[in-house]
Amino acid sequence: MTIQTVGIVGAGQMGNGIAHVFAQAGYDVVLNDINQDSLDKALATIGKNLDRMLSKGKITEADKAATLGHIKTTLVLTDLGQTDLVIEAATEREAVKSQIFETLVPHLKPTTILASNTSSISITRLAARTDRPAKFMGVHFMNPVPVMKLVELIRGIATDDETYTTMLEVVGKLGKTAASAHDFPAFIVNRILVPMINEAIYTLYEGVGDVTSIDMAMKLGANHPMGPLELADFIGLDTCFAIMNVLYDGFNDSKYRPCPLLAKYVEAGWLGRKTGRGFYDYSGETPVPTR
Ligand code: NAD
Repeated sequence: MTIQTVGIVGAGQMGNGIAHVFAQAGYDVVLNDINQDSLDKALATIGKNLDRMLSKGKITEADKAATLGHIKTTLVLTDLGQTDLVIEAATEREAVKSQIFETLVPHLKPTTILASNTSSISITRLAARTDRPAKFMGVHFMNPVPVMKLVELIRGIATDDETYTTMLEVVGKLGKTAASAHDFPAFIVNRILVPMINEAIYTLYEGVGDVTSIDMAMKLGANHPMGPLELADFIGLDTCFAIMNVLYDGFNDSKYRPCPLLAKYVEAGWLGRKTGRGFYDYSGETPVPTR
């Protein structure tokens, strides 16, 4: 199946990045959000990111103009009905995602592939509520999308081979590399990464090391580019907590128990970089460890 037009639902930090990489690869993109402000911000962010690539000599002025020329925005979800592929990248709430697919389905071409960028929600369950579970799959981009090379492709239990091979080809055309996963809680990257972060928080909670020692240990001792606590602040502590809960509930296994200190930080509203405080305090020039 040939994909040329792509609808993207949700123009937040992931949606704008997804729109950027598709447009840069020559696809015609229709970007939707319920909020005009999100659409305006998304276009501004894409413009800024293209300018950075231009100043580094990675693209030309003509590439920038062509990329922006491939993106249309709309507040009307059903405008995405005639696209070949729809990628949902709206807020991580199952009711929101289900409602989007329910509204969209009666307006779709029979051949349109549906995908979700969810970090944790069951692809099989989302797919089962549409008219085309065989043409539904998880397409999980990494943040920031224009920079990160990986896309996880998640097959729901009903996803057919044609849908999977079509998406594999699309990922290649975006210049990215796919890792294939079956539909189990948190897929591959977050299944491995987030419990490691949770364990680092237990290490802090139990007083085995302080923030500086734990991050230093993993940077210099395991060659990680960022320490696990620094990374937790980057991802967002609410997101880390939500993913641990999906793992804990999904497997009913105590090894995924979210650390009580992580829960306490989330309760306090200390969510990491985005709120100015997490395991580090970001109010000054350089981040300062808080424990
Ligand atoms: P975000 O909060 O930055 O953006 C979500 C956007 O969805 C907002 O602009 C919001 O207005 C819009 N939205 C909400 N309801 C909508 C609706 N009914 N129709 C259209 N738009 C709607 O969130 P994000 O970080 O971009 O995450 C989006 C998705 O990507 C989530 O499923 C998340 O789990 C997943 N994801 C996030 C990351 C990450 O690091 N942030 C990484 C991979 C995947």
